[in-house]
This record gives sequence, structure tokens and C-alpha cells, in this order.
Amino acid sequence: MNTIERYDVVVVGSGPAGRAAALQAVALGRHVALVERRTVVGGLCINQGTVPAAALRAAAREAVARRESAEALRRPQRHDLRALLRPVLRMIAAERERVERELAAAGIAPVHGEACLVDAHTVSAGQRTLRGDLVVLATGSVAAVPDGVAVDGHSILLADHVLDIADVPITLTVVGAGLVGIEYASIFAALGSHVTVVDERTTLLPFADGEAVHELLRQLSSRDLHVRLGSHVDAVVARHDGTVTTHLADGSWIHSSAALWAAGRRGAVSGLGLRAAGLDADARGQIPVDRWFCTAAPSILAVGDLVGELPSLSSTAAAQARVAVAHALGADVDGLGLVPIVLHATPELASAGLTQEELRRRGRRFVVGRARFEALRAGGVEGLLELLADDESGEVLGTHVVAPAASEVIHLGAMAVEHHLTVHNLAAAVYARPSLHEAYADASLDALQQLRGSRAAYAAAS
Ligand SMILES: Cc1cc2nc3c(=O)[nH]c(=O)nc-3n(C[C@H](O)[C@H](O)[C@H](O)COP(=O)(O)OP(=O)(O)OC[C@H]3O[C@@H](n4cnc5c(N)ncnc54)[C@H](O)[C@@H]3O)c2cc1C
Repeated sequence: MNTIERYDVVVVGSGPAGRAAALQAVALGRHVALVERRTVVGGLCINQGTVPAAALRAAAREAVARRESAEALRRPQRHDLRALLRPVLRMIAAERERVERELAAAGIAPVHGEACLVDAHTVSAGQRTLRGDLVVLATGSVAAVPDGVAVDGHSILLADHVLDIADVPITLTVVGAGLVGIEYASIFAALGSHVTVVDERTTLLPFADGEAVHELLRQLSSRDLHVRLGSHVDAVVARHDGTVTTHLADGSWIHSSAALWAAGRRGAVSGLGLRAAGLDADARGQIPVDRWFCTAAPSILAVGDLVGELPSLSSTAAAQARVAVAHALGADVDGLGLVPIVLHATPELASAGLTQEELRRRGRRFVVGRARFEALRAGGVEGLLELLADDESGEVLGTHVVAPAASEVIHLGAMAVEHHLTVHNLAAAVYARPSLHEAYADASLDALQQLRGSRAAYAAAS
């Protein structure tokens, strides 16, 4: 048997969760090993998810701006995908190098190999055996593809294949209207594809605020993107002519140049040897954890997409890892703070706190302060900012933004929710002009006018 290498913490996976777990442990003075099965670090985030999608989205935005500024080009214009992808590939390489440098600076040399649990403290990886007082599983997720969907990487794609396709498809069917499905649907619509999104659910983005989703749909529909809800997909098959047919349960079908399967992911637990450590995954391949991300085995934490708590985002994965490791290593740490949920479509939808639907469900009385970005002097930006506030105290309970830069604008609203600020506080603040954040002033003044006893409140703030 090979020698057992001893560490304080052994981390499995080098995505945002694994990286944050390893760096947190080093920051707390621990000796750390990090195992990654791929030859490159960075996980889904850098290699197939956040980074490539963000870079493609930026390219798509520029393409839209060019198209919209050219009066003659009102008809859809398809773009040279290979040319658009060149800077994306450079960006991925740069991000990988950045992570490698960051790990090296922390004294971590990734162990490349498939990790498998030997027991609740021991992990085998290729020829090496690593033992840790603490083991952190951060293996992420894999696409969940049913039998009837013949993914080939050419015309029937997963998000993982998007960087490999040569042309923007003339028509694209996206199966799955979740964060990834809508993100890529909006990118390809911006690049000139006619896109149909199909989802068996009857509500689009059920976790998001309905009024914000309505605004998002309104903007997406004006860009050749159509959403069919309540449609179960039975099969997706390639045809001899290279096109694709998506068969729906009601007997109808959709022909398109390509299809993207984005209807769900499952925890990456295959081959991880969970049983050897006394663990089991649920039907979605996810490992149950408590609020500190501790599994049924006291020496093992599980964080990130592997745990499957909504939202499955890089930011959430890293935040979970930091909190979990700090707590397990005895640092004084609060639980996970408020996590903004961001749909990185074009436009973006960002949410923090409670939605109108959730407030109604809880029987809370609230007002909705609204601001439209068109009303500001912020350079032709279209969209909506909503502030949901307690109808008596004015405490901000939720913020929802639909705009090209909603992922930037949301943070002030998220702070307001997390720190129990009121619409009086937001109305009294001074905002740079012109700026998108001025929408907080407009929305809070709108909310103030609706509060119970509103005249006094409005006068005090204005
Ligand atoms: C198309 C797309 C777009 C996205 N866009 C965004 C976005 O804009 N913003 C955002 O915040 N999030 C986005 N996400 C989500 C984000 O990428 C994930 O939430 C995030 O990567 C999860 O991090 P993680 O560390 O849990 O897992 P991952 O990033 O999946 O990393 C897991 C790592 O573990 C390794 N691994 C797995 N099993 C083993 C094993 N047995 N042994 C050794 N190593 C193993 C894997 O190779 C991988 O490197 C997007 C996702 C997709 C698919």
C-alpha cells in the first residue's frame, strides 16, 4: 500500500466551492490538499459555466448594440461564432492561470486524479492516498439527460458543448427554462437565432418575483425568443439532414437547426465512494447537509452545486464553502448571509429577499415601489426596479431588478434587505446622477407614498 499523506483538510473539486474551501482553510492556518480530476482547475464555473457564458454574453451585447445602432439591420443578423469565441477562450485560459497562481500562492499544488472516499477521513486519488481531519466534498454537478435525448455535441447540445459549436444556429430549441436555459436562450437570440424555450413547468422561474419575470419575458419576446410553458419534452432526436426534432408529450414537435438540453443537473457523486464513508446521496445525486454544510459523517462537509440548494451559482458555492470551513475549523462565523439570485440573461434579472408571491403567501401587508430605468437619464437602459416594503414601517423586504446591469444594481437592495433598512433610508440617500442606482430613489419615493400614514412619511423623506 502507498504511503498515506496527512493533511488538516482534504478538499475534492477545484470549482468555486473547492477553491474557496481550500483558501479559507489555509487562511485559518491549516495544511490543505486539493484534488481535481480534470487536468485543468476552475470547475464548471471557469471551463463551461460562469466565465464562458459571461464572455459570450458580453459579445452578444456588443452584437446587439451594433445591430440596434444600424437602422437598416432590423432583420435578424447571425454572427460568426468562432470569431466571437476567440476572446472567450483566451479569457478562460487567463482565469485558469489566475486560479493556479492563487492556489500556488497559498501553498497548494492540486493533486490531479479521480477522488474516491476510502473512509470518512481518507481519499484516494490516482496513486496517492490523502488523509484529512476534515474532508470537503465540492464535486459540483453534471447534466441530467433522460434516455430519449440523444446528445451528440453537434446539433443536440449541453451547455458544456456551447464553446465547441461552429455557427450560430438559425433556429434553436432550448429545453429547460431555468437559469442556464434562459441565459443561453437570450444569448443566442441576441446573436440572431430564432429561439424557442420549452419547459414542463407552468410558471417561468417560479422562485423569482412574478412582476419581474413578466418584465423579463416582455423584453425577451421582443428579441425573437419565445417561451412555451407546460410542455413536457418526450424526446430530442437528430434528423438525417442534420436538423433536430423535439417531440412534445401532446404529440406536437418542433424542428430546429439545433437543440440545447438545459433541463436540470444532478450532483456529481458517481465514483465518489460515498458508502465507504457512511454517506448516501438523494435521488438527485445531492448530499443532505445541515445549515453548516455538515453531512451525516461529522468529518465530511459538502458544499456548492453538489448540495443543490438554490440558487446553484458560483457566488453561492463559494460563500457556502467559506462559511462551512470556517465553522468546522472553529472560527467565529455567522451563517450564510442573504444570497442575491441573478439570472445572467440579456437583460439580467436579479433578486434579493422576498417576492410579492411569497409575501402574499405569508399574509404580510406590503407596498411595491417601482422605478423604470427609462425614466432616468442613464443612457437608454430599459427595465424595472421594484422595492417591496412593509406597508407600515417601510422596511425593505425584497428588491427585484430587470436591466442589463441588474447584477450590479441588486447589491444595494440586498444590503437594504439584509440590514433591515427602510424605504425612508433609501429615499434620503444621495445617488450619483446619472446612474442606474437613482432608480432606488424613485422606487423608494413611490413606496413612501403608499405607506400607511404616507403623507407624513413622504414629507419627512422628501
Ligand atoms: C452554462 C452555465 C452558466 C452559468 N453561469 C453562471 C453565472 O453567470 N454566474 C454564476 O454565479 N453561476 C453560473 N453558473 C453556475 C456555476 O457555474 C456553478 O454554480 C458553480 O460552478 C458551482 O461550483 P462548484 O464548485 O460547486 O462546482 P463545479 O464548478 O462544478 O466544480 C466541481 C469540480 O469538481 C471536480 N470533480 C468532480 N468529481 C470529482 C472527483 N471524483 N474527483 C476529483 N474532482 C472531481 C470537477 O472536475 C470540477 O472541477 C453557470 C452554470 C452553467 C452550466
